[in-house]
Amino acid sequence: MEFKNDIPTEENTRRLDENGTFRFACHSGVACFTRCCHDADMYLYPYDIIRLKRRLGMTSAEFLAAHTLTAFRENPQFPSVMLQMSDRPGKPCSFLSEDGCAVYEDRPYSCRAYPLEPAICGSGDGRFAISARIVRHGHCLGHGEDREWSVRGWMEDQGMGGYNEINARWARVSSLFQRNPFGEKPLESPALKMVYMAGYNVDSFRRFVFESSFLSRFDVPEARLYEVRDGDTALLILGFDWILRFLGGEGPLRERRL
Ligand code: SF4
Ligand code: SF4
Repeated sequence: MEFKNDIPTEENTRRLDENGTFRFACHSGVACFTRCCHDADMYLYPYDIIRLKRRLGMTSAEFLAAHTLTAFRENPQFPSVMLQMSDRPGKPCSFLSEDGCAVYEDRPYSCRAYPLEPAICGSGDGRFAISARIVRHGHCLGHGEDREWSVRGWMEDQGMGGYNEINARWARVSSLFQRNPFGEKPLESPALKMVYMAGYNVDSFRRFVFESSFLSRFDVPEARLYEVRDGDTALLILGFDWILRFLGGEGPLRERRL
């Protein structure tokens, strides 16, 4: 999570491995409560979108249109999806209520991780190694609280386990974008539009799987098909496997033999 008017210096960031420790606590009694939910520059991961669109009873396309914007950030070949802050004074997050986060159980990965910025090194099958940077913004008073956490303990407490595994798969997928597979004008690339759909617009990807020639071209076992038909997470992982095959010629999804 980044804040335009509060950029931490090098001295205020520290790299930690999974067992590294830090002092921190966040609760409704801190004077800065919800300050970090204003004017934040926040990436959304594909699994964040599934959790939030289900929570809000929206399709993925409706969620993307209502609550996100895209920007070319660390990867110049592929747009990042960012949470759109509201245009109310102070630019609070649209999900911020008087009582705090109104989507707390389904809040995005970056909100869970904060003040950590995890770095996930993943393989396409969900295996991963994780480390994190702890970032100390001036506005965040949680660093003055007397509670010690390990990185692993914080992630468990914040319910990040399932997210880590899926985000690790996405880390492998997005590493393919570094090779410039979309050509000189990525925004005009039909391949980019397809990959963006498979990553972020799971309801459209479902139609692509079931209403195009997808299943005659790729060998998807019956049991997996059953999970994918109704399950967004299984479908998302199929989407990742399709991108790995489509862009990288790798991964578990096989083309059918003719
Ligand atoms: S302590 Fe930090 S994370 Fe918690 S509400 Fe305050 S600014 Fe946000
Ligand atoms: S989703 Fe919730 S925790 Fe995250 S910025 Fe919005 S209100 Fe804050």
